[in-house]
Amino acid sequence: MEGMSDAHRTDVTTAVEQLAWTMARKMLQLEPDAGPRSDLPDADVRQMWLAALTSLLAIRDSAEVLAASAALSAAQRGADYPAIGDAAGMTRQGARRKWPGLAGLSDERQRKLRWWSRRGDQFIQCVRAVLATSEEGPRLAALRERLDDIEQSSPAQRIDAFDMALVDAHTVAVGAPAPAGPTAERASGLLAALTADAYAAMSSHSSLVVREDLVCGTDGCPSEPIVELWRPDFGDRPVPACREHAVEALRQPATRIVAAHQPDVALSVFAEAHPAH
Ligand SMILES: [Zn+2]
Repeated sequence: MEGMSDAHRTDVTTAVEQLAWTMARKMLQLEPDAGPRSDLPDADVRQMWLAALTSLLAIRDSAEVLAASAALSAAQRGADYPAIGDAAGMTRQGARRKWPGLAGLSDERQRKLRWWSRRGDQFIQCVRAVLATSEEGPRLAALRERLDDIEQSSPAQRIDAFDMALVDAHTVAVGAPAPAGPTAERASGLLAALTADAYAAMSSHSSLVVREDLVCGTDGCPSEPIVELWRPDFGDRPVPACREHAVEALRQPATRIVAAHQPDVALSVFAEAHPAH
C-alpha cells in the first residue's frame, strides 16, 4: 500500500494486537491485565490464544466492511478507481473487481446536490402543504419525521436525509387517498410531480426508463410519452402519456405524475395543468 511508512505499519500491528487481546479477555471474562503467561496451565493459555484468533479474524472482517464503506464514501466525493486502487495497494482493475459499482457515484451525488439546491425549498414547502391539508395517517407521520431529520442533519448527512424523504414523499403522493378539496389536491399532485422530477434529474439510469415500445396510453395517440401517470382506477400500472394527454388527465382529481422521462418535464406539465392562481 502506498502512503504508509513502515513505522506506521508497526503502529497498526501493535494497535490491532492490543484490540484483539482486549476482545479475547472480554470473551473469556478475564481480568483486564490477564494474558498468556508461562506460569499458567496449558489449557488456560490455549483458550486465550484461541480467543485471540477468533478476535483477530473478527477484526479482519470488520476492517473489510469498513474498507468497502470507505471506498464508497471516497467515490461519492470524486475518487476514481485508479485513486481507490492506489490507496488500497491494488490495480485499478483489482479495485473494480473488489468494489464494483463505484464509478460515476460522484456524478450522481453532484446531480443530487444540484437538484436539492434548486428545488429543496419548494419540496419542503410542498411537503408542509400536504401535511397541513391531508388526513393524518402512518404515511404522513413518517414524512413528518423525515422533515425533522432534514432539519436536524449535518450538511454531510443531508443528502441521505433528502433521499429518505423522497421515498416517503413518493409513497404519500401516489398512495394516499384522494384528498378532499382543491388545495389539498394541488399539494399532493405537486408533491408527486416534484418527486418524479427529482428521480428524473438524479438518476444515472434515466435512459433505461424510456422503453422503445412505449406509446401514449390514450387510444390512437401517436405522440411520444413524456411522463407516466397513475390514478386509483388504473390499478397498479402507471400509464404513459404525451404532454397533451398528460395535461388533460391531470385536470381530473387524484391523477398523479409518478415518473418523468426527462428532468423538468414533470413540473412543466403539472404547471400547465394547474396554472397558479
Ligand atoms: Zn397522447
